[in-house]
Amino acid sequence: MSHQPAVATKMSREMDKPLISLHLVDSDTSLAKVPDEAPKVGILGSGDFARSLATRLVSSGFKVVVGSRNPKRTAGLFPSAAQVTFQEEAVSSPEIIFVAVFREHYSSLCSLSDQLTGKILVDVSNPTEQEHLQHRESNAEYLASLFPTCTVVKAFNVISAWTLQAGPRDGNRQVPICSDQSEAKRAVSEMAIAMGFMPVDMGSLASAREMEAMPLRLLPAWKVPTLLALGLFICFYAYNFVRDVLQPYVQESKNKFFKLPVSVVNTTLPCVAYVLLSLVYLPGVLAATLQLRRGTKYHRFPDWLDHWLQHRKQIGLLSFFCAALHALYSFCLPLRRSHRYDLVNLAVKQVLANKSHLWVEEEVWRMEIYLSLGVLALGTLSLLAVTSLPSIANSLNWREFSFVQSSLGFVALVLSTLHTLTYGWTRAFEESRYKFYLPPTFTLTLLVPCVVILAKALFLLPCISRRLARIRRGWERDGAIKFMLPTDNALAEKTSHV
Ligand code: NAP
Repeated sequence: MSHQPAVATKMSREMDKPLISLHLVDSDTSLAKVPDEAPKVGILGSGDFARSLATRLVSSGFKVVVGSRNPKRTAGLFPSAAQVTFQEEAVSSPEIIFVAVFREHYSSLCSLSDQLTGKILVDVSNPTEQEHLQHRESNAEYLASLFPTCTVVKAFNVISAWTLQAGPRDGNRQVPICSDQSEAKRAVSEMAIAMGFMPVDMGSLASAREMEAMPLRLLPAWKVPTLLALGLFICFYAYNFVRDVLQPYVQESKNKFFKLPVSVVNTTLPCVAYVLLSLVYLPGVLAATLQLRRGTKYHRFPDWLDHWLQHRKQIGLLSFFCAALHALYSFCLPLRRSHRYDLVNLAVKQVLANKSHLWVEEEVWRMEIYLSLGVLALGTLSLLAVTSLPSIANSLNWREFSFVQSSLGFVALVLSTLHTLTYGWTRAFEESRYKFYLPPTFTLTLLVPCVVILAKALFLLPCISRRLARIRRGWERDGAIKFMLPTDNALAEKTSHV
C-alpha cells in the first residue's frame, strides 16, 4: 500500500504520452516493445477482455504482464509487448492488477493471496441479470471479502472488450470508478485517463452494485415512450382498418385488404407522430396549470407528471421517427401497382365521360399547401431531433436549448396542426366520410394538440404570463416569498419554462 502514491505520480508523468504512439505499434494487433521505465500493470485472465485491455494498456505506454493458468496456449493471442506468464509470476511485481475473470472463478485465485497482499485489485466483472438478483453483495465486495489484505477498485466494467480494442469514442468515454481507498481510486483514474477514458468518481465500494447494474439496463428511458408509441400505433391502425378496409368490405363488398401494408400504415404513422408531439408539450401545460392553481412552484408534481416530464425527449424523438417514416411511405405511394391502376381507370372514365381536362383548382391548392406545411413541420422536427443529441445539446447554452426545444418545438406543433387541417379540409363536414358513423381519423388526432395550442395561447395573456413568471421565480400566493417583477416584460419572457 505504501507504494501507491509513487505509482500514481509515475502514471501521471506517463499521461503526457500520446494514446497510440507509432513506435509502439508494430502491426494492427501486435505491439512492439514498451520502454523499461513504463509502469507495470498485471492482468489475471487471458480471455476477450484481458486481450483488449492488454492491447490498450500497451498502446497507452504501460508494461503489461498477463497471468494465465496456461500461458503457452494463450501467449500468441496477446500483443508481443505483453508478457504472458503463470498467475503467480504475473502478480509478483505490479502494484495494480486487473482481475479479468468471472465471479465464480474468484475463489480459484485465493492461492495467490500472499503475493497479492497490499496490492490494488481492479474488478472489471459484470454479473448476469440472474446473478445480480441472486447475490446481495456486488462482485467487487465479494472479491474484497476474499482478499482482505488488498484494496479493491471497481472500474472499466461498463466498457466492452470491443471498445477497449477500438479505443474510446465520444459516446463511451466515461469510466465509473469506485473504491473505499481514495489513493487506489486516484491511481486507477489516472490510468483510465492515460488510456483515453474519462473517470467518473462513484464514491465508495458500496456503489459497485449500482455500477454492476449499469450494463444490465436495456434502454430504461425508452420503455414507457416506446410502449406509448406502440399503443397509439395499434389503436390508430385498428381504427383506420375499420374505416378504410372493413367498412368497404362489409357495406360495399369491395376488397381493399391490399391497403394494409402501405396505405393504412401511412395513414396511421402521421396520427401517431402528431399525437406524440402534442404529448411532448402537454405535461408542460399541465405543470404550468398546477403551478397557477397552487400559486407556488415549491409543491412537488404528482409522480406520473414528473415521469412524463422526464420522458419528453424520448417521446419527441419517437414522434420524429414516425414523421420521417410517414414521409418515406408517402414517397412510395405512387410506386404502388394499385396507384397506377387507379390512375389508368380514372383516365378511362374521363375518356368515356368525354371529359378532356381534369383540374379542380381548390384540390390543387389544398394539396400544394398541405404538402408544403408537412415538409416544413418535418424539417422543424429534424432540428429538434438533432439538437437533442448530447454532443449538439452540450454546445448550446440553456437559453438556446430552451429556444429550440420549447419555441421551435411549439412551431413544429402548429405547423403539424395546419398540415392536418389542410389535409382534412372540409372532410369533417361531409356525411360520406363518417364510415360506420366513425369520424375521420384526423379529427381525433386534432383533440390533444388543439388543447395544448389553446392552453399555450392562454398562457401568453399578460395577466397569466406575469403570474406564471412570478411563480417560477419563487413567488408564493400564501407563502412568505412575495415580490413584484420589474415592469420590464422582456424579463418575464426570459424566465425558463418547465
Ligand atoms: P473469458 O473470455 O471467458 O475469459 C475469462 C478468463 O478467466 C479465461 O480466459 C481464463 O484465463 C480466466 N480464468 C481464471 N481462472 C479461471 C477458472 N478457474 N476457470 C475458468 N477461467 C478462469 O471472459 P471475458 O469476456 O474476458 O470476461 C472476463 C471478465 O471481464 C468477466 O468478469 C466479465 O464480466 C468482464 N467484462 C467483460 C467484458 C467483455 O466485453 N468481454 C466487458 C466488461 C467486463 P486463463 O485460462 O488464461 O486462466
